[in-house]
Amino acid sequence: MSSAPNHSDPSSDHEPLLDVRGLRVSYQSSRGPVEAVGGVDLRVGRGEFVGVVGESGCGKSTLLFAVAQLLSPPAAITDGSVEFKGQNLVRLTEKQLNALRWRDYSVVMQSAMNALNPVTTIAAQFKDAILAHDRRSAEQIRARSVEVLQLVGIDPVHLGSYPHQLSGGMRQRAMIAMALLFTPDLVIMDEPTSALDVVAQRSLMVQIKELQQLLGFAVVFVTHDMSLVSHFSDRLLVMYAGQVVEAGPTRQVFDAPAHPYSRGLLDAFPSIHGPRVPLTGIPGSPPDLAEPPPGCRFAPRCPVVEEACHRVAPALYPVGGVLSRCLLDAPDRRTPATPVEATS
Ligand code: ADP
Ligand code: MG
Repeated sequence: MSSAPNHSDPSSDHEPLLDVRGLRVSYQSSRGPVEAVGGVDLRVGRGEFVGVVGESGCGKSTLLFAVAQLLSPPAAITDGSVEFKGQNLVRLTEKQLNALRWRDYSVVMQSAMNALNPVTTIAAQFKDAILAHDRRSAEQIRARSVEVLQLVGIDPVHLGSYPHQLSGGMRQRAMIAMALLFTPDLVIMDEPTSALDVVAQRSLMVQIKELQQLLGFAVVFVTHDMSLVSHFSDRLLVMYAGQVVEAGPTRQVFDAPAHPYSRGLLDAFPSIHGPRVPLTGIPGSPPDLAEPPPGCRFAPRCPVVEEACHRVAPALYPVGGVLSRCLLDAPDRRTPATPVEATS
């Protein structure tokens, strides 16, 4: 774990690996552009585990796809940069990106059923991924495939299986094994456990964490369930309506959330350790991103809303070691941020 960061930058003190700045993504729709990612900064150090949490529809998947350069129309990056190992991925060609995919970074999707090819065996899919980068002999390919399957606790006999012959948990594990074929520096995971039951979810989380510590890769892990990542991530980013509303070390965000939305999220899921309390959740739902509310985007649902919140778009303010996009955390609440779209 990193030591306590300074107040102006709650990002890690790990050696930088990924540095996303001001990233914006829009979907073109019949009703005009829908900005699903509205100026997000995300820094990940080598070997660091960063959780990205928020309700469904907050732009988490869009953010991950934009970082991995996997967006396709009608979605497109409209602004910002994605520095990974010193290169801006946004400017690279498909050919240049293909040289990095699997080898330097890999993506584990929400549903392995969609990500894996249903008509080829696990062995054939691993082989294709390996041969996209390296000329290797059949024996080398088989040896590496066996190795990564064993890493995730799958009997190598399943190299001959088709995806539908595996259980949901095994498919997700096979997907993770595939993501580890080249031991990349960064593994991006989009709710990889959400299709599983609670027990399988928990055991997969433990396994991901063990692999991360064993192999030293960094993880960006997206989930709508804040309590799921709380024991595994070094830092948390809380997203609401396409923006980061809170960012900081996991313990701090989890133990003493600064933003009212983070507090609501925490109340919405059962704590694994804490006492049994009724789950309250957050009434209402995230806004339509084609027409986000003026001022603070969370204001219409916020339990501590004030009049100014409906007019003034908050910036991210440093408060107690985290960043919080809440006017109540503005350094001087009488002259808060400029009443225009805040930059982050
Ligand atoms: P999350 O992963 O947090 O659930 P998504 O990134 O999937 O969120 O979606 C964020 C928002 O992007 C959605 O609420 C929706 O407004 C918009 N969006 C997603 N896909 C499309 C699409 N194909 N066309 C238009 N808007 C989309
Ligand atoms: Mg999603």
